Amino acid sequence: MQTCVFCKIATGMLPATILYQDELVTAFRDMHPVAPTHVLIIPNKHIQSVNELEELDGTLVGHMFLVAKKIAEQENIAHSGYRSIINTGEHGGQTVQHLHLHIIGGQRLRFSMG
Ligand code: 5GP
Ligand code: ZN
Repeated sequence: MQTCVFCKIATGMLPATILYQDELVTAFRDMHPVAPTHVLIIPNKHIQSVNELEELDGTLVGHMFLVAKKIAEQENIAHSGYRSIINTGEHGGQTVQHLHLHIIGGQRLRFSMG
C-alpha cells in the first residue's frame, strides 16, 4: 500500500523509533503516547483491521502478542501491567487503516470503556 503510513514505517520509508522488527512484524513507539510506554505492533504486510483477518493469519496474530510480551519485558512494564488494545473501525476509534496492537503502560491507567 503506497499511501499507508504504517506500511511506510515497516519498510523504512517513514521514520519511527523502531524497537523490534522481524520478517512478520514491526514494533515502534506511538508518536502521540498516552502513557510513559506506548508502543504499536503491526504486521509488516498490509491488513486493514481485525475485520480483514483470514484463517491463515492466525500465526501472525499470535506472533503479534508474543512480541507484545517481549516489548513489555524490554520496557519493564511486564510486572506492573499494561493494556493491549486493537481498535477496529469507526466506532472502535481506529484512525490508521493498518492493523495495529497498542501496548500501553508505565502508569496506572484509568478504566475507560466507551
Ligand atoms: P488508532 O486510533 O488507529 O487505534 O491508533 C493509531 C495510533 O497511531 C495513534 O495512537 C497515533 O498517535 C499513531 N500514529 C499515527 N500516525 C503515526 C505515525 O506516523 N508514526 C507513529 N509513530 N505513530 C503514529
Ligand atoms: Zn499498511
